[in-house]
Amino acid sequence: MPWNDEYWDKEEVLPQKELEELQFKRLKSAIRRAYDHVEFYRRRLKEANIDPDDIKKPDDIAKIPFTKREHFAQNYPFGLFAVPKERIVRIHTSSGTSGKPKVVGYTAKDIETWANMVARCLYMVGVRPGDVFQNMSNYAFFTGGLGFHYAAERIGAVTIPAGVGNTERQIQYMVDFGTTAVHATPSYAMHVKEVVEEMGVADKLKLRIGCFGAEPWSENTRKRLEDAFGIKAYDSYGLSEMNGPGVAFECKEQHGLHIWADHYFIEVVDPKTGEPVGEGEKGELVLTALTKEAMPILRYRTGDITIIENEKCACGRTHPRLMRILGRSDDMLIVRGINVFPSQIEHVLMQIPEVGDNFQIVLTRKEELDEITVRVEVRDEIFTGELRDLKELQQKIQRALQRELLLRTNVELVEKGSIERSMGKAKRVIDLRSI
Ligand code: ADP
Ligand code: ZN
Repeated sequence: MPWNDEYWDKEEVLPQKELEELQFKRLKSAIRRAYDHVEFYRRRLKEANIDPDDIKKPDDIAKIPFTKREHFAQNYPFGLFAVPKERIVRIHTSSGTSGKPKVVGYTAKDIETWANMVARCLYMVGVRPGDVFQNMSNYAFFTGGLGFHYAAERIGAVTIPAGVGNTERQIQYMVDFGTTAVHATPSYAMHVKEVVEEMGVADKLKLRIGCFGAEPWSENTRKRLEDAFGIKAYDSYGLSEMNGPGVAFECKEQHGLHIWADHYFIEVVDPKTGEPVGEGEKGELVLTALTKEAMPILRYRTGDITIIENEKCACGRTHPRLMRILGRSDDMLIVRGINVFPSQIEHVLMQIPEVGDNFQIVLTRKEELDEITVRVEVRDEIFTGELRDLKELQQKIQRALQRELLLRTNVELVEKGSIERSMGKAKRVIDLRSI
């Protein structure tokens, strides 16, 4: 496949063999850098009796111990840096969804590499000079703010640092500036959709492209966002420990997220044993950052559950695809012995037309037995209709959930606006079982 205007850079379409060679070359130098410059890695590799020179083929990476979330906490704040502070030009922290915030540092070159990586993603979905890119994402600490901002500017798009909140004003700007592309978390995007509907300005929007990520969202939510805004909606995956956004992104095929193998070494392991899963099997994503100067993180257990597809994509890119992010392993709920991901519940609810755009899961325990209650916002018309219809809808939702989850749930229908809106990542689950 020749390199052309469809691609941001030549590495996107590097023949698979060359891509693997580049990846392995970078892997070796990342391990060397970590060993030489980060006390934590030197100690761990020595303890495991490994010298960086022992890594002679890609599979040898399995000899290196995993880096886990707690290692960020243990080395808080700067213990994992591989360069002196004089070379650090920026710090971000993870949003702290789970546990102590993770601190990440960047050299000037890291910022450059990262901006190009996210630019590659935006270019892939069609963002070009002349586009008006409204970044409806938190800029404080969160990597989704500046991460996308730099990339959109790098492409030459008109870039608006909109941030989150002030939703009506944001929508007015979308109309006035002729915004063509947006980035937000899917839960904030759903809120924006709701306000657009209230303001009755949907037909005044010029949107074409929506980039949504930083939390799980379902195919049915995608459909709702695409229909409401008249856009193509693309899934964006990243984590602060691996730069931020731009780690993996959907192409126009909308069939899996290309994960950039020239910047990351990719493994999928069984979350319990840490052993690699077979090709095409579900497991936890483990990433090694190949091009980060300030923080060369080795074999990081992301906690994210996914499936990898290595088959070449119709778009011509040679990088593998994450077929979906089901959620974090610690998002998984165990209810009466059955595993449930909130994203499965979202998927079921968002295909029922009477259901509104928000829901919440409440877990309780009654006489040793777990109870799961799904609070579902429904469209206004439903509440003004017959009580019988309400009962029927409730049962319909209950049946649909039971089919997907193989679990009986209580369904509570609530009015639009009853559940708190989220500006960033949604908090879907309230677990009252330990109380
Ligand atoms: P925190 O871990 O504190 O939330 P980050 O902002 O770095 O900090 O979040 C990264 C995490 O967000 C990922 O590990 C993953 O669990 C989740 N995430 C990011 N993008 C997606 C996506 N497209 N789909 C599902 N989950 C995502
Ligand atoms: Zn593709």
